[in-house]
Amino acid sequence: MILLNPGPVVLSDRVRNALLKPDLCHREPEFSDLQNNIRKKLLAIYDLDPNDWAAILLTGSGTSAMEAMVTSLVPQNGKLLIIENGVYGERLKKIAEIYSINHCSLTLQWGEKIDLEKLQDQLENDQEISHLAVVHHETTTGRLNSIEAIGILCQQNDVKLLLDGVSSFGAEEIDFEKWGISACAATANKCLHAVPGTSFVVTRRADLPEANTKKRTLYLDLETYCKNQDKGGTPFTQSVQTFYALDEALSEMQEQGGWLARYEKYKTLSLQVREGLFSMGIKGLMSAEESSVVLNAYDLPVGVSYEQLHDHLKENGFVIYAGQGELAKTMFRVSTMGEISAEDMQRFIVTVEMLIQ
Ligand SMILES: *Cc1c(COP(=O)(O)O)cnc(C)c1O
Repeated sequence: MILLNPGPVVLSDRVRNALLKPDLCHREPEFSDLQNNIRKKLLAIYDLDPNDWAAILLTGSGTSAMEAMVTSLVPQNGKLLIIENGVYGERLKKIAEIYSINHCSLTLQWGEKIDLEKLQDQLENDQEISHLAVVHHETTTGRLNSIEAIGILCQQNDVKLLLDGVSSFGAEEIDFEKWGISACAATANKCLHAVPGTSFVVTRRADLPEANTKKRTLYLDLETYCKNQDKGGTPFTQSVQTFYALDEALSEMQEQGGWLARYEKYKTLSLQVREGLFSMGIKGLMSAEESSVVLNAYDLPVGVSYEQLHDHLKENGFVIYAGQGELAKTMFRVSTMGEISAEDMQRFIVTVEMLIQ
């Protein structure tokens, strides 16, 4: 089965086989080595200096990394501004609500471009705002939010920038230093091509709270994880087998040319799909320039329901992804992550054509 949903992705044999490595206790030096290697390789993807940055590993899906980032890094007396233009921006707000974190939001339509003037007004008119949280690639619509300008506004207003990079880390440009990023949440099973179960937050070390700061969470506290992981340990049992797979996937990625090579590969595949579908009259929800290379959203063909399209494709070996909420009735999504090729995508296009002709 070819998975064209936004993670989990089709694994390479090499990554799948890594799951079968020997049993390992998470209190043994072999585990420390494995964990240290993963932490180093994650920082190396974007050339980050380990003296200034830490990759903090968690056992959980991408949402656990978002929740750890927000609950561990916004201080009790801080205020978080959340930008919402899709499901994952809304999820950031839900986290703030559940933990009673002082927050406000810039709420846009799903898929709408972030209005920088409104953002600037909001930042200037509310001096309490200490942190801003935004999604990089809003997987709801495929929109790649432009973070550079938001980062500049944050720096001008002395606000720390928290990024949900769950569906962009490893395949889109993220300039941590220039954009002034304080932390970025991400996961193993999207652009990094490993298995679900491990997620992480890349954090500027200087922005981690002191150990004696009042905490909101035990299990998701980044300061606790970072302190333990810096010593080669772990506060709780980690998902050892998914660590093996992530380590292998990161080596494979390095050998293939890092994030830029992955960006180029996804871009080629996503344009191939876009052009193929366009030639049948199926249009993208937004332009290629506004979309990520990771996932694109398309209008359903006239007279075809999502269920019909999904089931026909699944019978032929492809899994696509529905729209969320209201968009479920009008669109479908195609991701180009994972161990897939131009031939696979050509077969996909031909299979769609079979249904609508
Ligand atoms: C996938 C995704 C998440 C996390 O989802 P999980 O199901 O918890 O892995 C968070 N943010 C974005 C932008 C995503 O695409």
